[in-house]
Amino acid sequence: MWDKLLAEDHAHVWHPYAAASDPGVIVPVTSASGVRLQLADGRELIDGMASWWCAIHGYNHPVINRAVSKQLEKMSHVMFGGITHPPAVKLAKMLTDLTPASLNRVFFSDSGSVAVEVALKMAIQYWHASGRPEKQKMVALRSGYHGDTFGAMSVCDPVTGMHHLFGDVLPKQFFVAAPDAAFDAECPESELHEIGDLLTEHHNDIAAVIVEPVVQGAGGMHFYSPDYLRKLRALCDAFDVLLIFDEIATGFGRTGKLFALEHAQVEPDILCLGKSLTGGYMTLAATLCNSRIAEGISDGEAGAFMHGPTFMGNPLACATAIASIKLLLSQPWQRTVERIGSELAAGLAPARELDQVAQVRSLGAIGVIELNSPVDLRQVTPMFVERGVWVRPFGKLIYAMPPYVMNSEDVATLTAAMVDVVAQL
Ligand SMILES: *Cc1c(COP(=O)(O)O)cnc(C)c1O
Repeated sequence: MWDKLLAEDHAHVWHPYAAASDPGVIVPVTSASGVRLQLADGRELIDGMASWWCAIHGYNHPVINRAVSKQLEKMSHVMFGGITHPPAVKLAKMLTDLTPASLNRVFFSDSGSVAVEVALKMAIQYWHASGRPEKQKMVALRSGYHGDTFGAMSVCDPVTGMHHLFGDVLPKQFFVAAPDAAFDAECPESELHEIGDLLTEHHNDIAAVIVEPVVQGAGGMHFYSPDYLRKLRALCDAFDVLLIFDEIATGFGRTGKLFALEHAQVEPDILCLGKSLTGGYMTLAATLCNSRIAEGISDGEAGAFMHGPTFMGNPLACATAIASIKLLLSQPWQRTVERIGSELAAGLAPARELDQVAQVRSLGAIGVIELNSPVDLRQVTPMFVERGVWVRPFGKLIYAMPPYVMNSEDVATLTAAMVDVVAQL
């Protein structure tokens, strides 16, 4: 039966970032519960990836399951044009209460990349409405990642991103080096010279600066000083350029604060949320903005923000997000993230002794082993599966960001497997 499934998968399915004809090792999962993925052959894997940052409460959580069923019986979807419903309103209220006070307007969409498109469009439309239509360019950090749609791709790292394939059709944006200053260090002014010079010269053409605050995720798992964000905010203000934070990966506790921006106490003009917003149950994203943006756009010539996904504000997804956020806030999640973080740090530390390792680092509930050379997924995926864990490296990075429900014993199994696999390379 599973051979047939895999053969049909091979024949008809296209997997992410994979060749259609030869996707590499594909593992059939039949169900999941807590932190364990159940494989078709009866084995179980401890999930070190939380399904790409999403499944913060693990899988098949009874509280979220109940919320989904309850909403399903009322209505799974209704159009959002001209209609509203309790899950969307409640969730919007919740998100504006949890994020900085100035962010008081929520635009829902269906995935992180779209939330980034919406953020970029908001920035451009804001300047158009303000009589500055020439302010259309974005500034982004190198080694950043903001999604796979065209606008989002245009602000991803120009080297590790997909610029070389789509270069001619992507809007040309400005890039500056990501800050070097460590998470627990102050950021020297010199780290802002490049962006300062860029804004001095080009601010009349620049709509916004977009960054992933504190943790750059899929572009390199790079952690940096929150102090950089304070200085960046001041620069943006000085040059009348908007600031967009992409917290799609960092939101909902992953870095040790509910949102990474809290490390810096900085308020962006626009904020993108996604991934763990629904606890990994279904796809939903949100773009929040302050009244300057919302009123600027609404008072402008168009009189409306020009975006509206078909599944905008999907009630099932909104109800799930409400349940996930309530569940998170009902428990001492900060202690949990701190515990997992220190267990990841301790468990991965022995990798420092290995020649193939460049650096071992951790922040919040994220643990990273950076190797000296890229990892071959075909080689390492079976090695992890044999050791009973699910870890999916990219480039030179082998990393873990477990569901918050992972106990100490499972974190220890996970980190031991990571160190052991690296030692075998
Ligand atoms: C994953 C991610 C995105 C894109 O989200 P999708 O839901 O995959 O479209 C954007 N920004 C960041 C920081 C992300 O980690």
